[in-house]
Amino acid sequence: MAVTVTQQSKIWNQILVLIEKELQKDKHSYDAFFSESKLLEMDDNSMLIGTVSVLCQRYLSSPNAHLTLLKNSIKKVTGKEYKLTFVVTEDYKNKQKENTDQKVINTPTNYTFFTNCKINPKYTFDNFVVGECNKEAVRASIMVSNNPGFTFNPLFIYSKSGLGKTHLLHAIGNYYQEKYPSARVLYITTDSFIDEFVRYVTGSQENQSLKDFFNTVDLLLVDDIQFLSDKTKTAEMFFYIFNALVNNGKQVVLTSDRHPKDLKGLEDRLVSRFNMGLSEKMHNPDTETLLEILKRKIVSHGLNLANYDEDGLVFLAETFSRNVRELEGALNRLLFHTVSIKGTERITVDDIKESVQIMLPNSAKLAKNLTENDIVESVASYYQMTAEQIYSKIRTAQIALARRICMYLCRTMLGSSYIKIGEVFKRDHSTVMTAVEKVGKEIKTDSQLATAIQDIKKSLKK
Ligand code: ADP
Ligand code: MG
Repeated sequence: MAVTVTQQSKIWNQILVLIEKELQKDKHSYDAFFSESKLLEMDDNSMLIGTVSVLCQRYLSSPNAHLTLLKNSIKKVTGKEYKLTFVVTEDYKNKQKENTDQKVINTPTNYTFFTNCKINPKYTFDNFVVGECNKEAVRASIMVSNNPGFTFNPLFIYSKSGLGKTHLLHAIGNYYQEKYPSARVLYITTDSFIDEFVRYVTGSQENQSLKDFFNTVDLLLVDDIQFLSDKTKTAEMFFYIFNALVNNGKQVVLTSDRHPKDLKGLEDRLVSRFNMGLSEKMHNPDTETLLEILKRKIVSHGLNLANYDEDGLVFLAETFSRNVRELEGALNRLLFHTVSIKGTERITVDDIKESVQIMLPNSAKLAKNLTENDIVESVASYYQMTAEQIYSKIRTAQIALARRICMYLCRTMLGSSYIKIGEVFKRDHSTVMTAVEKVGKEIKTDSQLATAIQDIKKSLKK
């Protein structure tokens, strides 16, 4: 995951505390080599460390006990090993300043292109949940943010709608901008590019050149490039701009709803340029990722996660699983329903189901007509036993498991209360609660059980 400047300085402070402790009896060495050192940059694999003098830089760059102490302390704090590079802090700062001054001189500020296109500070790597579905795209995004223009150019991220492409583009922009405050990062939608191009050719910005404007950009983020299809003239201009940036080592990141080779109505030369870098697909999110997104969003609204029934949240993650935008819509309804109407008391499965009732897809609405007995019949048939055995007091392992699954499904699919389930199975509500919790926990680690429950659910939705 990307590391912010604040996190970076926190990590370094923790490392220094450890070193200082180790060098308690050798305060002189601590003062000479470490007390004024700084962690200037870090990524997943390497750290750039600023030292006070050339001597100190050389000393720490060669194998010795202090370097070993530093490496051990880094490992203790971060849990891993990093490639370390040492520089003199003063030289580093001067170089940064030179780069900034250079940019200020080269960057005319009087352009009026894309004035409405801004990076949204809300979308960062820190609040992007990484799961199996998107981890490669996130990894590639962090790599290009750390080494723009050097790894894959362009980075092409594609997925169905609502899976986080726009979020990732802004996250790259925010990360890069934080690291290089003077850099020019431009986020544009393809629609805004088309609009700007039309305004440009109709002559409303006569004395400005669109091509010159793009020459001032260090990192270009273009959203939804599929909309360039069949816009021949605009695509020609884009081709020119894209080539100029990539040839100058400037990073371009593109998103689309499909792989470059499936982009229709675009010239082959443009498609083959898009294919030159790296294309990463984001897949449909799994329940675990969706659940984590839900939880983080609840917390980010300043609400107490402990008030929300876990099964209810699982219900949301499973029901609104087509894309994250839909899940967010469901969460917004829930927040509105519960916060403005019910206050802040505990939010039950029933509250959760009720608040999103209107949004439920037909298949889930059908579940409303299901009864506890339908569930028992279905589980019994899956495990080749009778419903009577499940309702009975028999406690053999197989029947007890089937009974627990029934209780779990009554809770998560029907939203029945523990008391009601207790009545159905002639058990007290705390036994039901324990059974439901046990299954909820077990499906996270027992893939066979998880598959069985999925299959039973499918058979119930038919
Ligand atoms: P796309 O551009 O692919 O259509 P967006 O980036 O607009 O999708 O994402 C839709 C919403 O879902 C946004 O509010 C975004 O913050 C959220 N979202 C998507 N994926 C994630 C994720 N992995 N973690 C956190 N939020 C996400
Ligand atoms: Mg988008």
